[in-house]
Amino acid sequence: MDSLKARKTMVDRHVRARGVRDPRVLAAMGTVPREAFLPPELAEYAYDDRPLPISSGQTISQPYIVAVMAEALALRPDERVLEIGTGSGYAAAVLAQVAGRVYTVERIEELATLARSRLVALGYRNVDVHLGDGTLGWREHAPYDAIVVAAGGPELPRALLDQLIVGGRLVMPVGDGRAQELVRVTRVGSDEYRRDELGAVQFVPLIGEQGWADDEAVPRAPRGTIPRRSVGTLVSPSPVTRTGTVAKLIAECAEPIARIEDAPLDALLDRIGDAKVVLLGEATHGTSEFYRMRTRITQELIRRKGFTSIAVEADWPDAAAVDRYIRGDRPVERAWVPFTRFPTWMWRNAETHQLVEWLRAHNRETGANVSFSGLDLYSMYTSAFEVVRYLERVDPLAARAARERYGRLTPWEHDPAAYGRAALLSRMASCEHDVVAMLRELLAKRIQYSAQDGDEFFDAAQNARVVAGAEQYYRAMYYGSVESWNLRDQHMFDTLRAIASHRGADSKLIVWEHNSHVGDAAATEMAARGEHNVGHLCREAYGDDVFVVGFGTDHGTVAAAHAWDEPMECMQVRPARADSYERLCHMTNVPAFLLHLRDPVRDTLGDELSEPRLERAIGVIYRPDTELASHYFQAVLPSQFDEYIWFDETSAVTPLPHAAQAAAPSRHPLLR
Ligand code: SAH
Repeated sequence: MDSLKARKTMVDRHVRARGVRDPRVLAAMGTVPREAFLPPELAEYAYDDRPLPISSGQTISQPYIVAVMAEALALRPDERVLEIGTGSGYAAAVLAQVAGRVYTVERIEELATLARSRLVALGYRNVDVHLGDGTLGWREHAPYDAIVVAAGGPELPRALLDQLIVGGRLVMPVGDGRAQELVRVTRVGSDEYRRDELGAVQFVPLIGEQGWADDEAVPRAPRGTIPRRSVGTLVSPSPVTRTGTVAKLIAECAEPIARIEDAPLDALLDRIGDAKVVLLGEATHGTSEFYRMRTRITQELIRRKGFTSIAVEADWPDAAAVDRYIRGDRPVERAWVPFTRFPTWMWRNAETHQLVEWLRAHNRETGANVSFSGLDLYSMYTSAFEVVRYLERVDPLAARAARERYGRLTPWEHDPAAYGRAALLSRMASCEHDVVAMLRELLAKRIQYSAQDGDEFFDAAQNARVVAGAEQYYRAMYYGSVESWNLRDQHMFDTLRAIASHRGADSKLIVWEHNSHVGDAAATEMAARGEHNVGHLCREAYGDDVFVVGFGTDHGTVAAAHAWDEPMECMQVRPARADSYERLCHMTNVPAFLLHLRDPVRDTLGDELSEPRLERAIGVIYRPDTELASHYFQAVLPSQFDEYIWFDETSAVTPLPHAAQAAAPSRHPLLR
């Protein structure tokens, strides 16, 4: 596609379709050649709607967010605008098409110089680039009609507020190093400013005297288990309307739960009917009630409806250790200890232990052969190890080849994200060819290998798929959260299909994953970002044969960490926001309940709940201080889930000790 056409598609699809209306901003976005602002090797991605790396560890903003910010400035053709954070110079070029004159300040010399020469080469005569600390503005040309800051600061710099004319607008991301709120301030009098919040965004840090110190707040590569807000995600919080009336309606339709252990589930099982796949969500990764309720439902589905397989948001080889333990027909030995990767408490907890014990007893007593699998793709190294070990048993020559090929990934074992960066940004060849060839060769010998043991072959093949998927994932991560999120959820969905087909025509699957994976992405703001998920892919594949259950809570305690790789803490969950679905449920005054959404008992319930509201997602990381930006997203609950299960007050899961701390070493996969 030529660049003009690609640009037009980008504007239509990612800018106009998502609500940017200002015709001059749209025209500017359709004119500025974004590829000219990128390192040549990334030019092919110029019209994808995502931020991309430029030099000095900085990024060129996502086109959509450049447009949103330009529109929010409400520029007239003769106005003068100050931009802080020139970066590549792309946004400055867009602003130069919309305003009369652009002054732009960059703190990194290499970037300022490069941007200046690009802008000159492209013929922009109304842009001045200045090297300096933009948190202090650019006093010489002040005051400005508008100021835009392209980096996130802890607060609004006083100097910038001062350099705005009365009537002028300042647009800037404010918040911590990872997530910010896009704020617009209008100077309405000499000492009077009006502030609007435009939504949650994510930018590189604003570093300077009135911003962050140089060594603070530098975000690291993400590997979250909830959808992070990508750069430029906007939320328009819904008005807090008629909350009391809607809460009353929910209370009338809800089926109260007194105790999880003997909650009546007949009605729910009726509604699940003949579904072949049941997705059970969770609003956090560390809440006891969600695990216990899912265990109850899982037991009933297995006992009364013949479900055959459980698949969870865990690594394949780790879950395989549980699978061997509960099905008891294959050796359990392995050279590494399962569930020791952060976040260990997600599966290494007393609640999961209880489920695993029940499954083992059930399989033994009834002769059922219920399986337990992991859907995730973070186990690049343990999976590679397992493939090699498998081949050593069945085909030593192939094992040697595997060792060599997978061995190329070893330098990044402790930071696989760094592999993605290295493969993209240095001249190093990626390992893609090796891992794909390995998978292909393994599959080519399917008949030969499966003759010995079909389950073992399936296990090894899935591990080889994980390595190939993870290799791709860590490279995609560098381009942003949308690509890597989609790859991960596609991998999880493909794994689900593989399990279904391996377990045969009568297989029926239960999935345990976070709400953000199982709730239909099309019913949330994820869709606007171009993200899909397991729930959405399942609905496309299975239609009414998939039944999706979401879970929610208002307050209590949760097991989570403040940041990736940090220790687990028992944290307080804040009471939910006034404009959230959670608040509606809280206001019912029913402590716990089931709420049917697919075919609600009253039509009005569906209608009332279909007005979009905020919903909270807590993953393994909880940041109460930036809760709105870090944990809330917009959704339409009745489209997202077929059923919603509510626990007003919840408590943290009980983590299990590691073997080193345990009284006696155990063969149990969760107790080693
Ligand atoms: N508008 C840019 C994106 C910029 S990314 C584009 O379209 O490409 C943010 C930029 O802000 C980075 O280049 C960073 O170096 C710069 N920056 C951060 N703190 C700054 C400060 N105090 N003064 C000037 N620039 C700053």
